Amino acid sequence: MRLSRYFLPLLKENPAEAQIISHRLMLRSGMIKQSSSGIYSWLPMGFKVLKKIENIVHQEQKLAGHIPMLMPTLQSAELWKESGRYEDYGEEMLRIKDRHSRDLLYGPTNEELITDIFRSHVNSYRDLPLTLYHIQWKFRDERRPRFGVMRGREFYMKDGYNFDVDKDNALHSYNRHLISYLRTYERLGLKAIPMRADTGPIGGDYSHEFLVLAETGESEVFFDKSILNLSLGDRQVDFENKDQCQEIFNEWTSPYARTDETHDNASFDKMVPKDQQITSRAIEVGQIFYFGTKYSEAMGANVNNSEGVKIPVHMGSHGIGVSRLLGAIIEASHDDKGIIWPENVTPFQVGIINLKQGDEETDNVCSSIYKTFSDFGYDCLYDDTNERAGSKFATMDLIGIPWRITVGPRGVKNGVVEVTSRKSGESIELSPELAIRKITEIYEQAD
Ligand code: ATP
Ligand code: MG
Repeated sequence: MRLSRYFLPLLKENPAEAQIISHRLMLRSGMIKQSSSGIYSWLPMGFKVLKKIENIVHQEQKLAGHIPMLMPTLQSAELWKESGRYEDYGEEMLRIKDRHSRDLLYGPTNEELITDIFRSHVNSYRDLPLTLYHIQWKFRDERRPRFGVMRGREFYMKDGYNFDVDKDNALHSYNRHLISYLRTYERLGLKAIPMRADTGPIGGDYSHEFLVLAETGESEVFFDKSILNLSLGDRQVDFENKDQCQEIFNEWTSPYARTDETHDNASFDKMVPKDQQITSRAIEVGQIFYFGTKYSEAMGANVNNSEGVKIPVHMGSHGIGVSRLLGAIIEASHDDKGIIWPENVTPFQVGIINLKQGDEETDNVCSSIYKTFSDFGYDCLYDDTNERAGSKFATMDLIGIPWRITVGPRGVKNGVVEVTSRKSGESIELSPELAIRKITEIYEQAD
């Protein structure tokens, strides 16, 4: 993309309404625009990152064997009356009447709808296990929408639902989700810690939240420092293998890690030596639940077991805050100049700065680098505007592209361009060919 042709409405000043850095940087770099309280338009660059994150979430769900689908944003109130949650959900639910005075709602989550789909089509234990998920907009009329996409009213969420024949199988689904979420966060460049959680309005017996440490997080967390050393890395996971999944689950959930909702000082002191105890703020980026037969009993989602007896299915639900993740990634990865995108989610893999737009040779080198990257299928942002060099550098730093190639007449004369890492700030001079090779190699490794 040539910057002169792109839509990147940058803000020069810090927007007064933004209290936290990620919100400020998303507004300043023209990624989002508030349309009304807690509701945003996703401008082209924000939309690009949202889709990249969504794509990684899909890839990891696929690896875990979960099946994508799409349910609507508007739901009939009838199903929620069946489960008993129409009244229970309270003011966070946006209730709507259609022209026939029928009650609808903008879905805050989808347990009812998916249970209805399930009970209409699945009757036998032979069709289990089954995990269906979708990535769809949700609406919760939050009392205090704030911090931009972090606590919106309309937000984008991946939510998945597992159906199993008994508790043992449902807990395997639970473990599978825990691992697949950990993998997802790692690929997004985030360190997310699973913490024992309350089940809240979803209900149920088991739940873990995933928290990313950040000063501006809304949760207070307490955990054993040793958990920070855990990583899945390249470990091969066989999601069908119950024992392996249980082993990884145990490894990640045995150290003490809780949010303020479940924290208990006496247990913390008993389980964790003082010098290993960490108390911090953190952002909730996901949550998983096992709730047994709560919805299947209320809504008659039964299957025939191997003896031909009708039994309610065991279920769980699992959510990742896809739009919130943008905020969380920026909170975890920025400096005083702007965003520093992890390679896996960056809106553009490479930025090219032309230091002397209109100088024929410089223009040619830029165009040729730009063309090569485009031919390779890379997203490249070429700053071909007539702005001053200083302002071009500031823009690239603000929008956080991990690798920058700077091309000026002096370098061109000597056959070199400058490659700069956004993260370290280090630059090296290379021929255009080597510059391209260096950057493509980095992305191939990051994949
Ligand atoms: P919170 O405690 O932050 O209100 P929640 O526990 O009610 O969130 P869940 O029902 O667990 O949310 O939803 C799954 C995920 O969706 C959360 O972990 C979070 O990442 C994201 N999420 C929830 N509410 C919002 C919101 N208002 N804006 C953006 N993302 C949200
Ligand atoms: Mg939650």
